[in-house]
Amino acid sequence: MNHLDDSVRRLLDYVRAKDACTWCQNTEHAVYRTGLCRHCYRIKLEISNRTRYQQKSRGALAAARKGDPKVHDTPTYFLRIAEKMRELAELEGKAFGKVASQATALDVEHALSKLSRRVLKRDLFRGEAAKLGHSFSPEQRKYLLYLLRRILREDSRRTRRSRARYRLIVER
Ligand SMILES: [Zn+2]
Repeated sequence: MNHLDDSVRRLLDYVRAKDACTWCQNTEHAVYRTGLCRHCYRIKLEISNRTRYQQKSRGALAAARKGDPKVHDTPTYFLRIAEKMRELAELEGKAFGKVASQATALDVEHALSKLSRRVLKRDLFRGEAAKLGHSFSPEQRKYLLYLLRRILREDSRRTRRSRARYRLIVER
């Protein structure tokens, strides 16, 4: 192992030693006493508020539906979105962890492709895996993957609500 791999390993060890949010496993944001980052804590709070509101408005909904059975159950709809946001945050945590324990060239290609699609709406990196495999050592690929995923994860935080809404439609 060369000295570059050595310093990369130290950088990754530093990230591994950091606190991570219990749900999304992000190490870049402060973790509060609840074990969650602010983003996930807000989702948790929203779920509990919306659960309470859903229960409170049950009677009114039933009454309204006597007049019109098609009245939309808005409180449940918004609760579902919040619950889906939690699910997406937890999936992100499971998929990414703090840093990847393995990073194949294909993993790096996928991260680059995803980033490219999110920014440009097209994939500039399809089939790039072999070149990536020859250009970066396994240790360097882990660090590269970590850096790319930091961008993807920030974007996921920003867009969590619309992603959750979309997933609810697709999964119905
Ligand atoms: Zn989190």
